[in-house]
Amino acid sequence: GFDPVPTVTLPDGRDVPALGLGTWGMGEDAAHAPAETASLRHGLDLGMTLIDTAEMYADGGAEIVTGRAMAGRRDEVFLVSKVYPWNASFKGTLAACERSLRRLDTDRIDLYLLHWRGEHPLGETVRAFEWLKKEGHIGAWGVSNFDTDDMKELLDVPDGGNCAANQVLYNLSRRGIEYDLLPFCQQNGIAVMAYSPIEQGRILRHPALASLAAEKNATPAQIALAFLLEREGVIAIPKSANQSRVEENRAATDIDLSDDDLAVLDHAFPPPTRKTPLEML
Ligand code: NDP
Repeated sequence: GFDPVPTVTLPDGRDVPALGLGTWGMGEDAAHAPAETASLRHGLDLGMTLIDTAEMYADGGAEIVTGRAMAGRRDEVFLVSKVYPWNASFKGTLAACERSLRRLDTDRIDLYLLHWRGEHPLGETVRAFEWLKKEGHIGAWGVSNFDTDDMKELLDVPDGGNCAANQVLYNLSRRGIEYDLLPFCQQNGIAVMAYSPIEQGRILRHPALASLAAEKNATPAQIALAFLLEREGVIAIPKSANQSRVEENRAATDIDLSDDDLAVLDHAFPPPTRKTPLEML
């Protein structure tokens, strides 16, 4: 058995798992879909009951795989999807949401995000999000790839303060948000969803990470995820289409990083000492 998955409380009081499942890259090839569906279902079985998808991924294909993974167990899942910025006008957001719901084969998205900032005024997108919430098509809304200035602008538009989450690039090798964006979100009760939490695999061979992992009888991916799970209000969403790697990621909750371990990580992956613009993948 694993330790329970820690939770993050959203502004509306809903508790969601701090360790979920990404879907970028799924739904691109029909031959891989059964393995992708099975790995998502395996993650749900293990308590990683937040699934992150987007209309962008495989042009809707990832939402279809997600819909299959949720079949018969929709109520177990906290479902996150995203609207393209160029669809995020008032009417465009409603239409995009309707298309996503059809692909996801469900009647509601629990958290609907603006994928990144585009040309449509934030107020218009927020008005659409609030309308979708009132109609019950979504449970909450948020943004993605918003830096601190974007968040401040958002909080100034009518109902902008209802933003529940900001999904951004955050992992050991991308710690820039610790300077001001992460504290800003924490102070405002906005959840931070850490995407690419293992830097798409690129940090796993880092010598300091590998040696700390060996010392702790863990894998580098588990250390990288445990580092994120230490932080208040942060939700990590690793993606794997492989059931044994889903299990490996799940077990990150069982790793306790001591102050000494965290100091080793700070030395290898220094925290920011000044503002740097938010990075994006
Ligand atoms: P991740 O950091 O989650 O890494 C995923 C890659 O690492 C895959 O190639 C996967 O391969 C591999 N992997 C997973 N677990 C392990 C492990 N334990 N050991 C070794 N390799 C492993 O990158 P993502 O970019 O996918 O980010 C996660 C999710 O965040 C995305 O899927 C998406 O939902 C979201 N995202 C959001 C963005 C945004 O703009 N809002 C941008 C980017 C991502 P395999 O599947 O074969 O196991």
